[in-house]
This record gives sequence, C-alpha cells and structure tokens, in this order.
Amino acid sequence: MSENHNPKTSIVLFGATGDLAKRKLYPSIYNLYITGKLSEQFVVIGIARRPWDDQTLRDNVRKAIEEAHLPTDNIEQFCNHFFYLPFDVTDTKSYQRLNQRLQELETEFHIPGNRIYYMAMAPEFFGTIAIQLKNEGVTQSDGWNRLVIEKPFGHDLPSAQKLNNEIREAFTEDQIYRIDHYLGKEMVQNIEVIRFANAIFEPLWNNRHISNIQITSSEVLGVEDRGGYYETSGALRDMVQNHLLQMVLLLSMDPPIRLATDEVRSEKIKVLRAVRSISSEEADDYFIRGQYDAGTIQDHQVPGYRSEKNVNPESKTETFVSGKLMIDNHRWAGVPFYVRTGKRMAQKSTKIVVQFKDLPLNVYTQKNEKQDSSIHPNLLVIHIQPDEGITLILNGKKIGLLGETIPVKLDYSHTSVDGVNTPEAYERLIYDCMLGDATNFAHWDEVNLSWALIDPISEAWSDSNKDIAKYEAGTMGPIESERLLEKDGFKWWPLEKL
Ligand code: NAD
Repeated sequence: MSENHNPKTSIVLFGATGDLAKRKLYPSIYNLYITGKLSEQFVVIGIARRPWDDQTLRDNVRKAIEEAHLPTDNIEQFCNHFFYLPFDVTDTKSYQRLNQRLQELETEFHIPGNRIYYMAMAPEFFGTIAIQLKNEGVTQSDGWNRLVIEKPFGHDLPSAQKLNNEIREAFTEDQIYRIDHYLGKEMVQNIEVIRFANAIFEPLWNNRHISNIQITSSEVLGVEDRGGYYETSGALRDMVQNHLLQMVLLLSMDPPIRLATDEVRSEKIKVLRAVRSISSEEADDYFIRGQYDAGTIQDHQVPGYRSEKNVNPESKTETFVSGKLMIDNHRWAGVPFYVRTGKRMAQKSTKIVVQFKDLPLNVYTQKNEKQDSSIHPNLLVIHIQPDEGITLILNGKKIGLLGETIPVKLDYSHTSVDGVNTPEAYERLIYDCMLGDATNFAHWDEVNLSWALIDPISEAWSDSNKDIAKYEAGTMGPIESERLLEKDGFKWWPLEKL
C-alpha cells in the first residue's frame, strides 16, 4: 500500500472516556490498524476530564476491543500508540499542554504534524474547543489539521449557524468533517452504485416509473439511559434532519459528473433545494409524530416513554416520526418520499423500498379481475441494517397454473454471499478523514438547508396544544402513520416480508 493509503496521523480524541469512544471509535481504529490501513506512525491522544493516565486509557481501549469481539493478537502493539491527557476544555493551559504533547509524540513517532481533532463529547463544547485550538497555536502544525464533528450539529438552524460560525473561526470548510454515520454504512454507500452503475435502474429512476419511495429506520430499543438528551432532541432532530434526509438525497440526486467530493455534494445540495418546504401551518399534512406507550417486546413488558429515567412524566417529545417529502423538480414531481423512524418499534431495521408504477395495462390483472389479483407492484428493496443486501420483487408464473402469477423475490445478501462482516461505518469515515476525502460527510450547505426544512415542523409541534399520538411499544407506530400513506393511495410495505 502506498504511503498515501497509510496516513501518518495524530488523532486528538475529545471525549476519550465516553460511550462513543468505547463502543465505536476504539474498535474502528483497531480494525484500521489490523487491516493495514494505519501505518505504525500514528498516535491517539485521549482527552477527557477524568484524572486517568496512559495505562488506564490503554486498559480501557483493550477492554473495548475485547467487548467488540475483535481478534486481539496485535492489541499490545496497538495500545502503545495511545496516550492520555486530563483536560479542562475552558482552560488555555490544557491546550498548551496538548500542543507540547503532540510535538513530543510527533517527533517520537515520526508524524509530520498531521492532526485530526475528533469531537466526541457534549456539543456545547465544540465551538470553544475549536477556537481555543486555534488561539493556542495547536492548529499551526507543519502538516494538515482536520476537525471531526459528531452529531448533533445544532438543534435548530440558529444554533447550527452559531456553532458553524464558531468552528469556522478556526477551521476552513474543507478542514471540517461533519459526521453522519449513516453515510459510512455499506449499503447507504451502495445506493449510488445501484443507481449509477446499473443500466436497468437509471432509465426508470424518475416520476414516470416510480410511484413512491419509503425509508424506514426502526429501533426496538427505547431511550435507555439517554432520556435527558432525548428530551431535548426527539426523533425529528435526532434522525430525520440528518440520517433520513441524507438517504433521501442519495436516492434522489442527479448523477454527478464525477465521483468527486464537490460534484457529489453539489448534486445533493441541488436536490435538497428542490425539496418542498413545509410551513408550520402545513406541518400536520406532511408529518405526524408519536410517542411509545408501555407494551411487550420479545415477550418482555417494557415501560412507556413517560416512565423512562430522566423523562418528564408529561413529555410531548416524539419517539416516532413519519413524514412525506415532495421534491419539486422534473425528475421527481408527484413522487412522495415517505420517511419513518422510531424507538420501541416491532423490529430493528433500516430499509428503503422503491415502489415502481403499475403497467398502464396488465393482461394478467385483466385475466384475474374476478379473482383477487395476484399482480404485485415491482419493488426494489435496499436492506441497510441489520441485513445488508438488495431484493427485487417481480411477478412470475405460478407453477403449473396457466395465466396465474406469483411475486418472485430476487435476493442478494452481502453477509451470505461474501461471508464477511462489512466494516463499521465509523471505520470508513475515520479512514476517509485521514485520506482527506470529505464526500461522505455533511457540507455546511446541507446542514443549513436541512435545518431550514425541519425547523417549521418542530416549531409547529412545540406550539401545539394537541396531545401526542401514542403507539404501543412493539408496533410500527401510531395509526396516523398508516393514514399518511392511505391518503395518497399507498401503504407501508411490511418490512418483515421484504
Ligand atoms: P458521553 O457522555 O458518554 O461522553 C462524553 C465525554 O466527554 C466523556 O469522555 C467526558 O469525560 C468528556 N467530557 C465531558 N465534559 C468535558 C469537559 N468539560 N472537559 C473535558 N472532557 C469532557 O457521550 P457520548 O455518548 O460518547 O457522546 C459524545 C458525542 O458523540 C455527543 O456529541 C453525542 O451526541 C455524539 N454521538 C454519540 C453516539 C453514541 O452512540 N454514544 C452516537 C452518535 C453521536
């Protein structure tokens, strides 16, 4: 592998004792190491408040990797690249110490001043940290400097703008990598390949042949111990503004002229500008919200949202959202993009269903019109998680019976065909950042426009006196979500059957 593909980098990890670092970041960096994508010339400086030392951090990194069930042969060697710095984000001396430590380690590990600052802590500190990094000269190294920002990027447009202005004081747009981990998922990245590398789909990818597109990201878990955070967020901000909208953009953008960062981003931004804005007055026509009540999941009784820890017993925070987006351009006019997400639903699943239009005249429907017609709309299903694959639903002949049809499934599953676990989203994204490839990160224009789209809906909901629709835990959301599609003559396809 060329030097370009084994970047020599220091990663400064703000939030090294946190949940994200433990569950996602350490295992991902380790995978990059054992698959040869990191040279030996790398260090991670873990930063947090606790008075840990290098050894405590290394013990925790080792534990995180063991818990992720990764092979541990190279773990000792790997952990020797980790260093810890107790830190107070508001104290300038902390940044001076960091700069000094970076310089020492860069000399020791022969790293040419390339620095990634990974913000894996509470977002209220992102702006302060960025500014202090600049003011104390940490970003004035000989190599490149990049800032990785976790979600949430603001909680509405004004707060996102404020945060952006703060980080832009210290970093240029092309140094900023806003993480949307859905963009690192194997099958989300596959959307572009399916669309742009297959002669059979691109000619049909428009309002003449597609009737609607459905995107679901459902979880079985409740808010767990994140009730405090969730109360200030809710499903619309936590999932729709970023992950679901990004999937809509990848499904709807025009083909980029090249697979270059700027070209892909410009197509995404162009289509985002065509998404119909929804005023607060119209919010209920396009979006519905729900909150889980007590119920049974996998034979276990689970409490309702309002009884969860750190949740207001009269909370109106939505744990479920279902909505319709219209894209007013030539390709998509008249085709609804339905999105749906929630906690405590019947299954954990992220799937995209592309429903094609019926033929103008189908001789098999005519023949069967007295019986219950068995003609099934053609569907392309993209399985994002936990399964990864593609299913195409066609109509075939029912064996032995002349003139009768039956839905036929053509299935491709990554795990069963390739027999390998695909890399974690974070693994790809950290590697992309090291290589300076920002294609799968959100540009400020995307964040800006997506908040502008979402804000009127959240404002309508926070101003509303109506009680929030309830759904029983273990179901696919409130009945209102079904009605949203019924109004247009559609239905949510049952995910377990696809
Ligand atoms: P966490 O509360 O588990 O960890 C926060 C970390 O920040 C800890 O290491 C803590 O010591 C450190 N910290 C807090 N205040 C500090 C201060 N004043 N000075 C120095 N260090 C300080 O949080 P988390 O779940 O790891 O999430 C971190 C970020 O990642 C958040 O922005 C969150 O929204 C985002 N995120 C988390 C997940 C996840 O799965 N946990 C997923 C997506 C995004």
